[in-house]
Amino acid sequence: MSSTAPALRTRFRSDRIVNFTESVIREMTRLAFQHGAINLAQGFPDFPAPEALKRAAAEAIAADVNQYSITWGAKPFRDAIAAKYRRTYGLDFDPEREITVCCGATEGMIASCLAVFNPGDEVVLFEPFYENYNPDTQLCGASPRYVTLHAPEWNFDRDELRRAFTPRTKAIILNSPNNPTGKVFTREELEFIAGLCQEFDALAITDEIYEHILYDGAVHVPILSLPGMRERSILVNSMSKTYSVTGWRVGWVLAPPDLSDSIRKVHDFLTVGAASPLQQAGTMALAMGDDYYTALASQYAAKRDHILETLEGAGLRCFIPRGAYYVMTDISGLGFADDLAFSRYLIEKLRVAAVPGSSFYAHPDRGRQQVRFCFCKKYETLEEARHQILRLKTT
Ligand code: GLN
Repeated sequence: MSSTAPALRTRFRSDRIVNFTESVIREMTRLAFQHGAINLAQGFPDFPAPEALKRAAAEAIAADVNQYSITWGAKPFRDAIAAKYRRTYGLDFDPEREITVCCGATEGMIASCLAVFNPGDEVVLFEPFYENYNPDTQLCGASPRYVTLHAPEWNFDRDELRRAFTPRTKAIILNSPNNPTGKVFTREELEFIAGLCQEFDALAITDEIYEHILYDGAVHVPILSLPGMRERSILVNSMSKTYSVTGWRVGWVLAPPDLSDSIRKVHDFLTVGAASPLQQAGTMALAMGDDYYTALASQYAAKRDHILETLEGAGLRCFIPRGAYYVMTDISGLGFADDLAFSRYLIEKLRVAAVPGSSFYAHPDRGRQQVRFCFCKKYETLEEARHQILRLKTT
C-alpha cells in the first residue's frame, strides 16, 4: 500500500535501518485520514479518556509539574506502579531499583532490547507478531528467529519452539494478551517457555500492555511470576491501553536491578524521561480500584461481540480473541487477490481502514489472506463500520 519512498543515498544510510520498513499500522492511520475512512487499523480508542484522569493531568500542569522528573520516573509514580503490582499479582518490585518509567511501552521495549542485545544475538519471536519487535531486534544487530502461532487457536508447536532456541538465544519476546491474534498464553504454555529460558540461559522480555483486556474467563499470568523467572524477565507495560491514553506516551519497565541499571542508562540518553504532569496523573490512575478494570474488560467484551457479528455477517472468518482489542480474520472466502487488495478496496471504496495481515509476518505469504480489525471504538463508530463493511456482501 505504501507511498513512494524517496531514493535513499547509500552514503547516508545506516546499516541498521535497511532490513525493515515503515510501520504499516501507522501508515494505515495516515491513509484513513486521507480517505476520510473509519480507522479500525491502529489500535487506539476514539472515546474520551476517564474524566478523573484528564482532570489530574490538567491539575498537574496548573500546579506547575512541568519540569523533568527523575530520569527513571517520578517517585510517587514508581511507588504507585509497585503498589499496583502488589495488589494485582502479589508481586513486589523495588521502586528504587527495579522500575523504570519510559515514553510508552514502545520506548520501554526498545530501551530494553538496546540494553541487553549484542550484534549476533538471536531473539525468538512468535509470528504473527506486533510489528515493532522486528525493528527493535534488528536495530540492535540481533537476529530474530520466528516460531509460528497456528490459527484458529494460535497454538505453537513445542518442538518448533525448542528448535528456535540455540546457545546464541539472548531472549524471547512475548506479548500476551497478544496483538494481533488475541491469544492469551496459558500458564502451562508459559511454564514451557520459562523452562526453555532457563535451559538456554535466555531472558523473557514481555509486552503486557493488554493485561486487563481479557474475555471469556481468560487469566493473565506474568511469566516473571513463575519459579526461576524473576531474575530473567523484563516486563514492559504502559498506561496507553488500560487507561485509554495512547497519546500520553507513559510506560514502564520492571526488571531485576542489574538489568534495570542498563535499561535506565539507555532510557536516559534516548528520552531523559516521560512527561512529568502525566506521570502525576498516572499516580492517580494506578490507584483506581478493581471496578475500573472489570468494567474495562466487560465493555470491550461487548464491543468484541459487536464487531464479530459485523465481520462474520460480511463473510469474513474470525479468529475469536480471548484478550486485547483486535480481531484477526480470514478473508479467503471473499475472492480478493490478497490482504493488500482487500485492504485497499476496504479503505478506498468502503471507507474503512484495517491492517493487512502480511505486515504481522516475516513470511508475508502466511498473512496474505488475513486482515486485522481493531474494536476499541465508540458504538457509534462500530455501527458506522458495520453499515460500511456489510456492503461487502452487495458489492
Ligand atoms: N498497538 C497499536 C496497534 O497495534 C498501535 C501502537 C502504535 O502504533 N504505537 O495498532
